[in-house]
Amino acid sequence: MTHLMQTYGRFPVAFVKGEGIHLYDADGRAYLDFTSGIAVTSLGHAHPNVTRAIAEQAATLLHTSNLYEIPLQEQVAGKLTALSGLDRAFFCNSGAEANEAAIKLARKYSTETYGSHKYEILTLHESFHGRTMATLTATPRPKFQEGYAPLMPGFRYVEKDLDAIKAALSDQTCAILVETVQGEGGVLPLGREFLQGLRALCDEKGILLLIDEVQTGIGRTGTLFAFEQAGILPDIVSLAKALGNGVPVGAILAKEHVAAAFTPGTHGSTFGGNPLAMAAANAVLDTIAEEGLLEHVQQMAAYLESRLDELVAAHDFILSQRGHGLIRGLLFDRPAGPLVSKCLEYGLLVLTAGEKTLRFLPPLTVTEADIDLMMQLLQEALAD
Ligand SMILES: *Cc1c(COP(=O)(O)O)cnc(C)c1O
Repeated sequence: MTHLMQTYGRFPVAFVKGEGIHLYDADGRAYLDFTSGIAVTSLGHAHPNVTRAIAEQAATLLHTSNLYEIPLQEQVAGKLTALSGLDRAFFCNSGAEANEAAIKLARKYSTETYGSHKYEILTLHESFHGRTMATLTATPRPKFQEGYAPLMPGFRYVEKDLDAIKAALSDQTCAILVETVQGEGGVLPLGREFLQGLRALCDEKGILLLIDEVQTGIGRTGTLFAFEQAGILPDIVSLAKALGNGVPVGAILAKEHVAAAFTPGTHGSTFGGNPLAMAAANAVLDTIAEEGLLEHVQQMAAYLESRLDELVAAHDFILSQRGHGLIRGLLFDRPAGPLVSKCLEYGLLVLTAGEKTLRFLPPLTVTEADIDLMMQLLQEALAD
């Protein structure tokens, strides 16, 4: 009997080792990993730069406390703010915790600036923002929310439509929280024009634009942050998944005037930004720059897109593909879950997103040969 709470439906396989895009089970069988641990191990498994950085840090100092100065935090914050155009960083340990911080900062800034009535946050249908009470409330999907009532007050859900959002705004609205690509919702990109429209609407109405880049951030779409490609700057962005290449670390970045609402004692996290996590994040950011990974992602994304187009053309049960950079979805006319199990039998790891979308999240280091092998395994699984 298992002693684990049964929160996950797990595939019957355990990996004991990883290297680059490959995972290995105890029998030494190799699996081609197009999941990256759900957009986490973006540099591939056991990247030597990250391994070295965390091994050295672990042997030196794992943890002190945010009661004391942590120079590595300053260093990573300096890199993230310079690269994003935002001004300040706060570090935590996960995506949900980053969104919690974004929600808290938005409320604190808005109620202090405009009055206690200004606390409401709008989120989109099909979104996913995490599993804590607030981020779950921000995620309007019955599957996740059922059984957890009462949810948090102060959230309202809107359709992905600028006119509908404009109509939904009230005096109480303080922020809109969106992903640039709804990853869990089915790999649904919001698109450049929509994001620009949102930015303009937020500016016009004096409300904050919060962008959840927990899945799309740190290079996945071919720029370090996906919002760059819309030519906009959010007021707060949340990050996590790929930031530590597997070491748990999350962050929010914010504009100076907004970040100023967090004063000593108003928010915190015991582990947030500890030296181990910062050593990993620091190595990840340096490696993306040193290896020219952003340009590489753009090239590989174009190649993956062209190869997936072949599948859309070849099978009438594959309806379309969509995505942005190296987060891509293949939309089926039926549930995609069984195909994920079939792919596993063939040594290929892929994901679903929503019910009918097969999701691909290869490491940013993926090569054309890896994509060709993925296509071969996927075609074998489809034929089976
Ligand atoms: C994964 C994810 C989260 C939640 O991150 P956790 O680290 O699991 O808490 C939040 N938002 C988005 C967009 C995500 O993809």
